[in-house]
Amino acid sequence: MENNGILALFDIDGTLVRGARCHYQAFVESVKKFYDFEEDISGINYAGKTDPQILREVLELGGFSREKIEENFRRCQEYMVQYYLENVHKEQVKALKGTSNLLKDLKKENVLLGLVTGNLEPIAYAKLGKVGFDDYFPFGGFGSDYEDRYLLVKTAIELAKSRYGFKGEKIIVVGDTPRDVQAAQVYGLKTVAVATGSYKIDELEKCGADYFMDNLSDKENFFKILGHL
Ligand SMILES: [Mg+2]
Repeated sequence: MENNGILALFDIDGTLVRGARCHYQAFVESVKKFYDFEEDISGINYAGKTDPQILREVLELGGFSREKIEENFRRCQEYMVQYYLENVHKEQVKALKGTSNLLKDLKKENVLLGLVTGNLEPIAYAKLGKVGFDDYFPFGGFGSDYEDRYLLVKTAIELAKSRYGFKGEKIIVVGDTPRDVQAAQVYGLKTVAVATGSYKIDELEKCGADYFMDNLSDKENFFKILGHL
């Protein structure tokens, strides 16, 4: 695949799409099945966290020991994926404002596109498939790779280099939470924080992103940012 020397890494929830009721339900159902624990995840702030990280926090809040958590941790995630894929037809996902046009234009300009998302990989692609975005992203770092988000950034960049011949240093990371920004800052990368998720612009401003956008509909501004990398 040709690329123009620029890599753009996108978060999914709150950045490209909104609404993931079925994903939420997959957590609830798998925790119930493998830990006999009836708890929802509404009590924790899960924005920007990875699926395994959320799962672990829910179970820790439920008083499960580390050993107990580990016993079924992998199988629980496998079931989350199974549940999601079986129920994704019910999932109500909407592309966020401007994302469809922006992705089209980025592809046209041969910007290499990748994902950095806490979603387990099959869930990420099934979710994006609902709005036709799955084909834009041939690779990424996923919650199924690591529990810590910053390692997902590294995974995505390594794949860009090893599989897609990405050589440049021009990388932008786009996300909707301070966690997205912090994960990219570990590597000194430039970030765009977009206020289409659970944080408003003034809340995001405190996280030290390089650029802020209300949504991704201002393509001109986005390409200007790429020009400054
Ligand atoms: Mg997000």
